[in-house]
Amino acid sequence: MDLTKTQPICVAGEWRLGGGDRYATLYPATGEPAAWLNAASLADVEEAIQGADRAFRTSGWAQRKPHERASVLYNVATLIRKRSEELAQLQRLDNGKPISETRALVASAAGTFQFFAAACETLEETLTPMRGDNLTMSVYEPMGVVAAITPWNSPIASEAQKMAPALAAGNAVVVKPAEVTPLLALELARICEEAGVPRGLISVLPGKGSVIGDAITQHPLVRRVSFTGGTTTGKHIAHIAADKMMPVSLELGGKSPTMVFEDADIDHAVAGVLYGIFSSSGESCIAGSRLFVAQVIYDVFMERLAAGAAALRVGDPASERTQMGPLITARHREGIESYVALGLEEGGRLRTGGLRPQGEAFDKGFFYTPTIIEDVRNDMRICQEEIFGPVLVAMPFDNEQDLVDQANDSVYALAAGIWTRDYKKAWRIGRAVQAGNVWINTYKQFSISTPFGGWRDSGLGREKGRLGILQYMEQKAMYWGL
Ligand code: NAD
Repeated sequence: MDLTKTQPICVAGEWRLGGGDRYATLYPATGEPAAWLNAASLADVEEAIQGADRAFRTSGWAQRKPHERASVLYNVATLIRKRSEELAQLQRLDNGKPISETRALVASAAGTFQFFAAACETLEETLTPMRGDNLTMSVYEPMGVVAAITPWNSPIASEAQKMAPALAAGNAVVVKPAEVTPLLALELARICEEAGVPRGLISVLPGKGSVIGDAITQHPLVRRVSFTGGTTTGKHIAHIAADKMMPVSLELGGKSPTMVFEDADIDHAVAGVLYGIFSSSGESCIAGSRLFVAQVIYDVFMERLAAGAAALRVGDPASERTQMGPLITARHREGIESYVALGLEEGGRLRTGGLRPQGEAFDKGFFYTPTIIEDVRNDMRICQEEIFGPVLVAMPFDNEQDLVDQANDSVYALAAGIWTRDYKKAWRIGRAVQAGNVWINTYKQFSISTPFGGWRDSGLGREKGRLGILQYMEQKAMYWGL
């Protein structure tokens, strides 16, 4: 991608300047423009969706044999791997994550295409034994045009998780990346074309969610929306979907509890809790942002944790040594600062962080220090609302039932972490906690073969897993009279 030029967007296979306003994406480490582009216009949306529908009906993609579609998706994985360093550097510019994290996200995108290529090849349809005079078959069909709406915190990985199964299933895909991080979605579309996905089947439409995302969701030819983002936006999309009788999957926010018991391996737990909240600058739906520590080890544990947080290397995302980069935008940092101020107003006590790091290296970027707030109660806003930044709230507990009740006392139910050496306790708490994902003596570990999603305000539906491809297909029963 030549970043000295205004980036074209992809409208039904045509690469051209968007019809909307020109804007710059900013490199969060310096606040300076990383790329210039024109947002999509409503006319682009219409053209992209009509073109996607045409490509779905005429390109023959849906009719190709599963192994033929799979071979194209394997090519996508290979091309991502060939260009992995370039893509990782581009993502660093796009959202400011440290290079060690962007490399992992690019690798995960390649793995996702490889996985869904295999899922496509191995999808089984069923033939039911004769019942009376009928032989019945249950088959799966692609839906047509599906939309992938993604947030800014994990570009390329988020898009791959939607595009790979949607394409594997035989659909056309209209991608709406976050306005501030469009570059990886655009590059992934180019890679898909180069790998052999028919032109027109993919469009990428950067722009404002309330305009472009909304128009895509409302469009009658869009048969499914797979959305990752905030809960308020997710609920809005769910309302539109209800009116259209359109299936949706919603991967939304979280305020995930992490529970450390007195018998935990303390070194391991300290490292895991720090990683759970401060990796990706806490800009992660599954961030372990609510910490509960057994009263008997609370002081010792918090001492170690606060020292660990203060020692994290915050800085230049291009450096291999950096552990935490900047936040995505100046505005998002202001939002986080208001939450910290609110937490202190509510009676919380700042244990560490709570400020912008000082020094020339930090002057222009959107940096913030790893922050821990203690002396809070679970019912305070700072403990209930998603901050989506490097802010951890910590509380002691001395009773298992009370702990479970507090952990579950949240509108969110996306993830939970448990640190203990007692496997029976881990099982008991793991079953009692309400969450789509529970990590025991680890955190933020993923497998593409394991379904991912949240309960309650954290979402609807599951992504990933071998059956993730079925989200993008309709089931059809066929009866043969014999
Ligand atoms: P957001 O909801 O503001 O935006 C997400 C996407 O939706 C963007 O592309 C945006 O442009 C688009 N959008 C906004 N308004 C829209 C509308 N009215 N109609 C259609 N599309 C619209 O979220 P964000 O700030 O980009 O991302 C942060 C949120 O995403 C956090 O709440 C985080 O927890 C959540 N998230 C969830 C997961 C998960 O898998 N559960 C993963 C990553 C992020």
